[in-house]
Formats: sequence, structure tokens, C-alpha cells
Amino acid sequence: MVEEEPIHADLQAALAEAQQRITDLEAALAERQLGQPGLLRTVIDNLPVSIYVRDREGRFMLANASALDIMGVDESQLVVGKKVSDLMPADIAARWEAEDRQVLETGRSLEKEGEMVTHPVTGETVWYDTTKVPLVDEAGQVIGIIGISRDTSLSRAVEQREVELTMARERVEMLRRFIDDASHDLRTPLTSMSLSLAVLQRNPDPATQQRHRAILQSQMEHLLQLLDDLLSTSRLDRRMTIELRQVDVRVMLQGILLELRTLAERKGHAVLFEAAGEPALVLADEAHLRRALMAIVTNALNYTPNGGTITIRVTPTPGQVTIAVTDTGIGISPAERAHIFERFYRADRARNTERGGLGLGLAIAHEVIEVHSGRIEVESEPGQGSTFTVFLPRVNKTA
Ligand code: ADP
Repeated sequence: MVEEEPIHADLQAALAEAQQRITDLEAALAERQLGQPGLLRTVIDNLPVSIYVRDREGRFMLANASALDIMGVDESQLVVGKKVSDLMPADIAARWEAEDRQVLETGRSLEKEGEMVTHPVTGETVWYDTTKVPLVDEAGQVIGIIGISRDTSLSRAVEQREVELTMARERVEMLRRFIDDASHDLRTPLTSMSLSLAVLQRNPDPATQQRHRAILQSQMEHLLQLLDDLLSTSRLDRRMTIELRQVDVRVMLQGILLELRTLAERKGHAVLFEAAGEPALVLADEAHLRRALMAIVTNALNYTPNGGTITIRVTPTPGQVTIAVTDTGIGISPAERAHIFERFYRADRARNTERGGLGLGLAIAHEVIEVHSGRIEVESEPGQGSTFTVFLPRVNKTA
């Protein structure tokens, strides 16, 4: 003990001297670089970016105020000499250390955009863009990395807000267009009905009366169909529960064709129905599937000029039932094909046809068929007609 004391005192003196020299050196360095001691530190602490320097072993040599804030630390001394893994969660530390290694090994700088970091203290999400460059000494050796990270959370929030605003504007615009179209489409049959009513009141000629009663009837059905489509869409939106039962699609299609006979006859179409003798059974919500198939067949009739041919083919295979509806109508261009299953989409040429829909039929059909684990495909050439094919999982007869 007695002998050790002078050594201890010597060591302490040497340490104190070394510390003083380091302080003097730091001051001299700062002075040489900026003319005023301590100014460098003040400057980097006031910069609105995070600046940090780590040595080859990943230990912090320097971290400015903003860099300390990323790590939820408020004093520089608590960071210098520590590794990222001592301060940050393991996943972030692993990421940052891997980047450091890349810069140290390649000697080249690294750019990283849009890193999301959860603040270790506040739990807030912060976004950073980071640049890391090699720290090179006078001998040209890479002795560490210098990192600069910019907080981009604010500009990201602004960008996000802009995206939301654009989407909101699009929704409003779509609603406005829909109200325009719907008012027009609902008005057309009503106008025709009121004209027919006026004729019925004034003209007692039996043939005229008969014709206008038929117009009234057909326009009223059309109006009901439009309103039904609207109702179906809003029900699908509310994810209405579906009731599955075994359905023979051959029988369902025959019923649909019977209902559409007047329209087919009025347009002078030939309607061919081809089905195998065996049942084509699927598990389906009858009302929904009927509406879907009705929309496809109605379109074939509507978008085919008078005197066309509509062929409906039902093919049951072991795994599925295929329903193909082929028409000889106006067809659909590739550009239009990309949109026909969207709500309220109507090709320009469709707008000019006599019986306008609201552009909901195929959107409803698509959703309904998806709910039934099936799919719908379309093949078409403008002027050459179209084929809509529905594939549905088949149920075995015994099931
Ligand atoms: P709409 O109420 O207009 O019939 P749909 O959703 O049923 O709405 O169809 C969307 C659009 O797809 C139609 O407006 C039309 O342009 C096009 N379309 C659908 N079926 C056919 C078809 N068989 N032939 C040509 N175009 C079709």
C-alpha cells in the first residue's frame, strides 16, 4: 500500500496531463478550422440535420444534437465511445452497422432514402434520408464513417396529404359524374314514358294505344332494372351475406332467356342456347348469380345491332362449369376492355345505344362471381362481337 501510492499519484498526474493535452489539441483544432474555439461544436449542433462520426469499430466519435435526439439521448458524453447496438433497438443497429461496414469496405459513399425509424423514447415514427461518406485520415486510410441524416417526415406528411386530397377530389369528381350520368340515364326512360302517356290520353287508335302501352311497360322495366343495379351495388358494398344453395346454371339461364325474350324479339336477334344433357351444378346465391348472368346476357342483346346472334354455351367439366356468352355485336376495344368491370364505366359507343345502363352491370357481375370463387373473362374485337366467359367451381351431383 505504502509503496503503491507514489505510483498511483504518478499515474494520476500523467492522466491529467494527457487529458489536458487532448483538450488543448481539440481547442487548437477547432481554432485552426474556424478561428474560434467551441464554435464548430455550436455550429454542428445547430444544423437542422443529424451529423455523426463512427470509427472502424462502430464506436461513436461524434454526434450532434439532432443525432442525439434520434437516439433519445440528451448528452454527447453518453454516446461517444458507444456502439449503435448499445443505444438503439437490435434491428435498427444491425441495419446501420451493415451500412457502416459497406462504406468502410468499399470506401465509397452510400445514399439511403425513406428510412422509417420509431423514436426509442417517444415512439413517434420519423422518416430519414441518409448519406454516409468514408472518413479518411491524412494518410489516406478510411478510419470511420461520417453520416448525415435529414428528417423528411414533414415533407412526407405533406406528400401523403396531397395524395389523400387528390383521391378525395377524384371521389367527388366520380360522384359528380355519376349523378350527371344517373340523372340522364334515369330521365331517358321517364321522358319516353311521359311521351307515351300523352299519346295514350290523346290518341284512341287501338294500334297506337297498344304500341305505347308496350313502350310504357318496357321503359318501366328498364327503370326498375337501373334502380335494382344501384341497390345491388350499395348492398354489395355493405358486404351483404350470401346464401349458398345448389343451382343448375342451365335452368337459371333458361329462366333468364325467357325473361329477356321480348327484348331479343324486339331486336330481331337469334338466341341459341347450347347445354349438355347433364346438370351444371354450382353452389350459389341464386339472386346474386342470376343478376350477374342477367347483366352479361342483357349486354350481349343490347350491344349487338338488330338481327344479331347471341349464343349461350354451358359446359360442365369435372372441376368447373363454364358459361360462355357470345354475341355478334359492336365489340370492345382493348383500351375499353381494361375498364368495363369498373363501376359506372361505359364506353362512349355504349352511351349512344338505345338502352343505356348505369355502367354497373359488369361491375356487379365481377364482384358476385368473385364471391363465388369464380372468374370472368372477356374476348372481343371492335366490330367483331364479344365473348364473356364465366368459370364457376362445379358441385358433384351427389353433394
Ligand atoms: P352498362 O350499364 O353500360 O351496360 P356494364 O357494366 O354492364 O354497364 O358494361 C360496361 C360497358 O362495357 C358498357 O357500357 C359497354 O361499353 C361495354 N360492354 C359490356 N358488354 C358488352 C358487349 N357484349 N359488347 C360490347 N360492349 C359491351
